[in-house]
Formats: sequence, C-alpha cells, structure tokens
Amino acid sequence: MYAKNLKINIAHLYPKLLNIYGDMGNIVTLTKRCQWRNIEVNVDTVNTGDTIDTEKYDLYFIGGGQDKQQIQVAQELQKRKESLKEAAEKNAVFLAICGGYQLLGHYYQPHNAERLDGIGLLDAYTVAGNKRFIGNVTAKIITPGTARETLVGFENHSGLTYLQGETKPLAKILTGNGNNGKDKTEGARFKNIFGTYLHGSLLPKNPHFADLLITLALEKRYNDRIELQKLDDDIELAAHNSLVNKKY
Ligand code: GLN
Repeated sequence: MYAKNLKINIAHLYPKLLNIYGDMGNIVTLTKRCQWRNIEVNVDTVNTGDTIDTEKYDLYFIGGGQDKQQIQVAQELQKRKESLKEAAEKNAVFLAICGGYQLLGHYYQPHNAERLDGIGLLDAYTVAGNKRFIGNVTAKIITPGTARETLVGFENHSGLTYLQGETKPLAKILTGNGNNGKDKTEGARFKNIFGTYLHGSLLPKNPHFADLLITLALEKRYNDRIELQKLDDDIELAAHNSLVNKKY
C-alpha cells in the first residue's frame, strides 16, 4: 500500500446543466477506482453562482450538454475564468466532455446563435457543422508519456473543434469522427487539461485513462509520481474490447 494516506479533491462543474449521455459515470469511476485503492476522494459539485476554491481541487470534471445549457455555463465560466486558469497553471487535472470541452477552448459558435466565449484553457475553437456526428468511436491515445492504448466511447455533437499551438490531440481516430471528422484527431491535451468528445460514459470502459487522470491528480497534490495499485479490470476491459473489436 502507499507510504501515506492519499487523497484527491474533485470539483464537478455544473452537473445540473452539463451532464448528458451518462457523463456522471466519469465521476463514479474516478471515485470508485480511488476507493478500491483506499485513496480518499472528496467530490464537490459546483453550480451556477458558486465560487471555486481552486487551492482545494486536484481534478475538475465538466460534462457535455445541448447548446442551450452551454449558454448558461459559458456565462458562468467567464466569471471563474481567472481562477480556473490559475488552477490549470498549477497542473490541476481537467477532464472536459464534448460541450464542456468546447467551452475550455477560445469559443464555440453554435448554429444561428451568438458565439459563446470559452475560457481558453485549450488553444482550440469550435464551430457548429452541418451534420451531427452520432455513433461509436474508437481511437488510439497519442498524447506523449502515455501508453498507446485505445479509447472507446460514443459521440453526439455537431461542433467541429480545431486545435492550434501547444494544444495537441489526445488520440488518433480509428473509427468515428472525433474533433471534426476531417483531421482524424479526437480530443485535446495541454498540460493536464484533457478534452474529448467521448461520452458513454468514457471512463468505465477506459480504466487506463481513468488511472492516468488519478495518477496526474495525485502528482499535482503530492508533487510525486505515485504508482497506482493494480485493479482487476477484466469486466472493464471486456466492455472496452467489445467495442474495439466491433465490426462497423
Ligand atoms: N451542443 C454541442 C454540440 O452539439 C455539444 C453537444 C454535447 O455535449 N454532446 O456540438
């Protein structure tokens, strides 16, 4: 077991507004994969009007949602922009799914609606496309310093996201559309900030990615790379491989 009692604090951002296609399952997975290892986890929900104590949190999660909910969250994020940028600069981990991912970029331009300013944690921008990308996705993780594992999930978005500067793709598309259906990229990473279009929820079927996020959150808190105790992931990986091997 670990030399000290380990803990991580998680902020779940705007779950009443951005939490579709099972995105809540990511919080459940992070919590259980820590508890199964006797790592203490505190999860606080942050709703509109709440301030965020960025000194407290090691990991921030924001789910996906429809354009309407994104408008409310975009306005709220602008009020928290500086504190979240500071948290990101201190290597806090962010996992943002779809609509939440779009709002961590510079902007999201929906169809026939005002452009929504993002908070620019990712050097990326999103514009609504003419068709919705809906379906299963398989991709191979390419972000440096991680194993070349596959990611599986479900996408449902019309937004087309383009990455620039130091913000690099999280993964390379094997099946599905990903960021924009053109450049074969899926998701984004800059420092410990991860965005992805994969709903499902993502983490239950991608235990290796969940453990990467937990490892990075512990490293941020303890300034030390802590080797996680192995878990029996037979069921998780059976679900994962059933999608990797699915013939589309
Ligand atoms: N409303 C955004 C889009 O359609 C995000 C959708 C989502 O979060 N699934 O691209």
